[in-house]
Amino acid sequence: MFTLIDLPYAIDALEPVISARTLEFHHGKHLQGYVDNLNKLIVGTEFETLCHSERSEESILAEIVAKASSGPVFNNAGQILNHNLYFTQFCPCHSERSEESLLLKQIATQWGTLAAFQKEFETKGATLFGSGWVWLQADATGELSIAQYAGADNPVAQGLKPILTFDVWEHAYYLDYQNRRPAHLAALWDIVDWKVLEGRYQAL
Ligand code: MN
Repeated sequence: MFTLIDLPYAIDALEPVISARTLEFHHGKHLQGYVDNLNKLIVGTEFETLCHSERSEESILAEIVAKASSGPVFNNAGQILNHNLYFTQFCPCHSERSEESLLLKQIATQWGTLAAFQKEFETKGATLFGSGWVWLQADATGELSIAQYAGADNPVAQGLKPILTFDVWEHAYYLDYQNRRPAHLAALWDIVDWKVLEGRYQAL
């Protein structure tokens, strides 16, 4: 059985960027729905026994996403993986950016400035048509890229390392920002936990 992850902060801790009401629905209803759906869908399939292994849920979800490649199992497993990475990359702590960060050095190498990187990331999020995710991803050499993924798709399904993601499904922002997706994306930088992103990058 897959289980709903706990948020690593209080439900109102990300206000005003993400309200408690949005988190209640996004985490408690939408993500819970994907977890419930996947648990029903895998009964009697090759994926059912995977859940009883000692491996991390993230690695099990990554295997399901890679093997299923499309369809309801892919969509629900992909959405759980995406949301688990999304919710755990935020903090109310105004995360310090370290001069020693390998991730920030690589961003500077490829984009020149953090602001230039952030601008491209926001633009790719704002211009993604319909529902999906904008990702910062890394290949096996540590090279970074920003990519748009529709629906439940993600870098893991492409064999790439997921570093940072902004959810551009309307359920992620509509209660707080209505149709102002760009304003929501710009505000998210205030709650990004750069220590978490560095850990993901160095785990390459
Ligand atoms: Mn979402």
